[in-house]
Amino acid sequence: MSDRVLPRDDLRALEGYHSPQLDVAVRLNTNESPYRPPDAFMARWTDAMRSVDFNRYPDRGAKELRTRLATYLEQPAARLFAANGSNEVLQTLLLTYGGPGRRAAVFEPTYALHSHIARIAGTEVVVGERADDFAIDVAAAEALIDSTRPSIAFACSPNNPTGTVEPSATIDRLVAAVDDVGALLVVDEAYGEFAPRSALALVDDARPLVVVRTYSKVWSLAGVRLGFAVAPPWVVEELEKVALPYAVSVPTQLAGTIALDFVSEMEQRVASLVEERGRMFAALSERPGLTVYPSGANFLLVRVDGDAGALWEQLVVRGVLVRDFSSWPRVENCVRVTVGTPAENDALLAALTEVRP
Ligand code: PMP
Repeated sequence: MSDRVLPRDDLRALEGYHSPQLDVAVRLNTNESPYRPPDAFMARWTDAMRSVDFNRYPDRGAKELRTRLATYLEQPAARLFAANGSNEVLQTLLLTYGGPGRRAAVFEPTYALHSHIARIAGTEVVVGERADDFAIDVAAAEALIDSTRPSIAFACSPNNPTGTVEPSATIDRLVAAVDDVGALLVVDEAYGEFAPRSALALVDDARPLVVVRTYSKVWSLAGVRLGFAVAPPWVVEELEKVALPYAVSVPTQLAGTIALDFVSEMEQRVASLVEERGRMFAALSERPGLTVYPSGANFLLVRVDGDAGALWEQLVVRGVLVRDFSSWPRVENCVRVTVGTPAENDALLAALTEVRP
């Protein structure tokens, strides 16, 4: 028998994406919404499904979803591209604009999937470091872009895992820097609705800027898998060529469209999570030995004066799951806590009091 086939050489060293899905009472580790979608949404969605011809493929262009989303976002429909979660949007962007012989720039510490998907797409990753407060150091970023000439650069704002929101001036300067080298800037706004500002209004048909968003967080639809990009039509047209045909299923398109009739319910959930974020920021900051970073997202990065991995374990034993960053450069002694319901957040505070009286 011959040897078993091996994966591509450049994929062998790659590790999968790990975030433990443990069955505990309080799950504050993956930045999902703690709230289920509204009952009236569920009723409308399941009703709509009953009259679908499931023997037929979905609308390939997701026309209704894109048109409704465009109206909601006050953007032309030709700027909308939808996929199964924003990770798939990122993957499509990298399959289109990355690849062998090309580079992707990221600013660490940031969302691991930007470099992970880039590598899977055969793209070399060039790394810039964020400043001490975790904002992008614009001058250093401009120098990196100029010297390494990537074809695509990622700015995550609010940044995962730090919560940092970039000033619009930073995005403007990064767009100019990528424009100078003929590249694309992707602003990942998975948490954009929790933040005081967005790059959406900066998208323009003449600028190489893409903003990526998701239904996973504010729309309480992580289980559905729907994300989208707002980009110049010349980018959307290229992404459509690379995306698999009929990729976004009928239930997913319907969920995304019907959700847009529940904007005020979504805004209420966002407002209460932002309020809880403020309460948790204050409560955690008061605890001796913890430093909390300002966040424009639905999570807080907390630096521990000790072993973050040990703290993670002590919390799990008490039924509270947070995200352990002890193996990540520059955030080694940190945990990231998703903002949950008031009761879940109280459970985290109570567990912390037991662990660190
Ligand atoms: N971008 C960022 C910054 C994220 O944190 C996440 C979710 N962890 C995603 C994209 C992907 O989200 P989804 O695929 O569920 O839309």
